[in-house]
Amino acid sequence: MALIVQKYGGTSVGSVERIRNVARRIAKWRAAGHDLVVVPSAMAGETNRLIALAKEIQPQPDPRELDMVAATGEQVSAGLLAMALLELGVKARSYAGWQVRVLTDSAFTRARIQAIDEERLRRDLAAGVIPVVTGFQGVDAAGNVTTLGRGGSDTSAVALAAALKAAECQIYTDVDGVYTTDPRIEPHARRLRTITFEEMLEMASAGSKVLQIRSVEFAGRFKVPTRVLSSLTDPLVPVEEEARAGTLITFEEDPHMAMEQAVVSGVAAQRDEAKITVHGVPDRPGIAYGIFGPIADAGINVDVIVQNVSHDGMTDLSFTVARGDLARALRILDEQVRPHIQCRDITGDDRMAKVSIVGLGMRSHAGIAAKMFRTLAEEGINIQMISTSEIKISVVIDEKYAELAVRVLHRAFGLEQG
Ligand code: ADP
Ligand code: ASP
Ligand code: MG
Repeated sequence: MALIVQKYGGTSVGSVERIRNVARRIAKWRAAGHDLVVVPSAMAGETNRLIALAKEIQPQPDPRELDMVAATGEQVSAGLLAMALLELGVKARSYAGWQVRVLTDSAFTRARIQAIDEERLRRDLAAGVIPVVTGFQGVDAAGNVTTLGRGGSDTSAVALAAALKAAECQIYTDVDGVYTTDPRIEPHARRLRTITFEEMLEMASAGSKVLQIRSVEFAGRFKVPTRVLSSLTDPLVPVEEEARAGTLITFEEDPHMAMEQAVVSGVAAQRDEAKITVHGVPDRPGIAYGIFGPIADAGINVDVIVQNVSHDGMTDLSFTVARGDLARALRILDEQVRPHIQCRDITGDDRMAKVSIVGLGMRSHAGIAAKMFRTLAEEGINIQMISTSEIKISVVIDEKYAELAVRVLHRAFGLEQG
């Protein structure tokens, strides 16, 4: 008998019938003697609908009020799921983030979990009750409702599993595991039985949305065994079988696996990127700080940065931001940077994508970057920026080539189903 945290994504709770199936699956695990804490997302499409409603009233919604609205989706599914469990005769009780409480900072729409009070959950568990805790939301020290960023229910679940020292965190979704690339882009993608924590972190940061990056960070920091698996299978598959299904994130490289491991384990794409170039800036100390300081102060994340070789003491500096941040970043550069830093021009391009290859095997193999660049060149895909880590190579390209790039790289590195 173990304590397990199960998270069910939007598609998994997307209709009353699916919620009933989730309840049957939970009841099965309970009947096998396990203690459970369950974390549902909002029903599929609901968070988008709520955000769109807010934007009808305020095109740039007030962040505190937006969180108040967006957090309601999870409250509905938590209540409905608890009811479905009660209907099956399973003891369950739903909680919003503030009731638990899931304490976060006050960065509305992208808050970070700081602490989780386990007392209420422990009391329920001791009484044989299954707590159903809203994903995606928390509460700050002042009592304001906060949300954790899109896809944040993954992080709620892994953080709960860490706080409760659960034996495993199971992330139920609409695919049956982590694949070599998004199976919606490449139908020949292959499911991985295991993936190392480092690779999963790089895949998530490279745009693979199967897990929110912060959930992977939590899993790593607290060594939470985390498994991604499908909620769309028969809810009554035997528990022993389901316990081995999907993809497990591992923390140690298995030496036997490492021998056989492919050099590249996965390909990821991040769309909705934008590139900003500051042209003709003087190449002297303090310039990068003068540009990136105000951008950071505005809470805008900068991803890939490239500074060109200087000519006659002048250089160009390019960097990427999320497309949704482009207008704001350009405004900040115009208002706060241009007056202090002499530059010829500032331009933005909002149709960019980042495509990355990830693999632990890259550490010990040469020529991977060259193979990636050759593969893209053969398709006539122009690389605009490059960035690397020890186990990842990313290129920034025109967004219209993103899917093509994923498919040709997937094939070039031999990742298809065998
Ligand atoms: P949920 O609502 O359950 O949280 P998400 O839509 O957030 O589900 O995440 C699941 C989706 O992630 C899949 O439907 C798939 O299209 C996408 N995805 C992207 N990259 C991968 C990958 N490498 N492996 C599996 N799924 C991936
Ligand atoms: N419902 C939230 C979203 O759509 C959180 C999640 O699904 O993980 O982003
Ligand atoms: Mg998700």
